[in-house]
Amino acid sequence: MVYDVAIIGAGMAGASLAAELHHRQSVILIEAEDQPGFHATGRSAAFWDECYGGLDVQPLTTASGPLLQAPSEDFASDSFLRPRGSLYIGRSDDEAGLRAFYSKFTAQGVRLEWLDHDQMLNHIPGLRTDWCFGVRGPDCSDIDVAALHQAYLRKAKRNAVDLALRARLMSASRSNDIWSLQAGNETIEARIVVNATGAWANDIARLCNASPIQHNPFRRTVAQVQTAPLAPSFLPLVIDYRGQFYFKPEGQGRLWLSPHDETPSLAMDVAAEEMDVATAIDRLENATDWKVERVERSWAGLRTFSADRKPVFGFDPNQPSFFWCTGQGGFGIQTAPAAAKLCAALIEERSLPEDLKGIDPAAFAPGRFIT
Ligand SMILES: Cc1cc2nc3c(=O)[nH]c(=O)nc-3n(C[C@H](O)[C@H](O)[C@H](O)COP(=O)(O)OP(=O)(O)OC[C@H]3O[C@@H](n4cnc5c(N)ncnc54)[C@H](O)[C@@H]3O)c2cc1C
Repeated sequence: MVYDVAIIGAGMAGASLAAELHHRQSVILIEAEDQPGFHATGRSAAFWDECYGGLDVQPLTTASGPLLQAPSEDFASDSFLRPRGSLYIGRSDDEAGLRAFYSKFTAQGVRLEWLDHDQMLNHIPGLRTDWCFGVRGPDCSDIDVAALHQAYLRKAKRNAVDLALRARLMSASRSNDIWSLQAGNETIEARIVVNATGAWANDIARLCNASPIQHNPFRRTVAQVQTAPLAPSFLPLVIDYRGQFYFKPEGQGRLWLSPHDETPSLAMDVAAEEMDVATAIDRLENATDWKVERVERSWAGLRTFSADRKPVFGFDPNQPSFFWCTGQGGFGIQTAPAAAKLCAALIEERSLPEDLKGIDPAAFAPGRFIT
């Protein structure tokens, strides 16, 4: 059998695209691991925030909001979002930067509020006085990442997408317009190959002789900690405007805390380093009156960016049956619904659906890296 589309990688990017390719006759999702979602997808901090990822990413995040908030009944019975709110905090030196940040995003239609220190204390009791200004995003939400990923895999299955697990793509060749893919013990044939392999994007591009569009994986650490006094469960997602840390509550008295690290890494299964966890704790204790009593667990994952930190969506100009769905960086969950619909429309040569109006696919095209 020759599949119309073979998607390599069954993380959030590959699974969501597989689910949205319903106009195609035959699709296979090829995953190296025993379980889809083992890498970046299974390690995220699970928030949807329209400012996170920057102005170029915001339209994809915003367009994904309603799809996550109120999914159609046949997709999921519950919303994937729970209200959290965000608060970007800054010191006196950050005022100009924070005001520019506030203006840029409000001009895009994002709901934001400017807060002074006393107003911030209502949201973050224990915040030290040197944090003078904040920008609050009332619409920021927690995302149920596992439920979203599973819903996409279920939808793909309903649409007769085949799933091959323990099937690492090892080699690829193409003749008579058909790819022959050696994946695990199988040889799979397909007309179009989609690269949705996150940190492994460069490897797959090399195997398929596609354009050398550089993708860089960076390690990001999260620790689940208990504090004294107990951190309240109503806290927003708190992000240092300068990108030194973020934290959000995970149940009563627990925080998910990150030093906002971005350490270059090889594509691999990464783990948290003690020094990064210690840095995160130090930064939290400098920003608030809380003490970390216990680190309950910690983990790390790879966030993979293209050179301009925008995702790469589209057919390769030099290898037209090779499609890029890569570079989702730190926003691949919150943008997945819109990104999957956009990529599916490009692959099936349809116009973009109504809910993506205003998004220009050219902004994400791989051709921007090819001279
Ligand atoms: C600590 C952390 C916090 C984050 N927090 C957030 C957040 O709050 N909100 C948000 O939106 N995003 C967040 N992200 C980013 C988000 O997790 C990623 O953008 C997203 O998961 C990327 O999905 P993916 O499918 O591209 O990659 P992955 O989930 O890594 O999937 C790629 C898949 O490709 C497979 N693969 C690789 N090579 C091969 C091969 N040769 N053959 C077959 N399969 C192969 C891998 O096994 C893997 O399963 C965070 C990331 C990290 C690390």
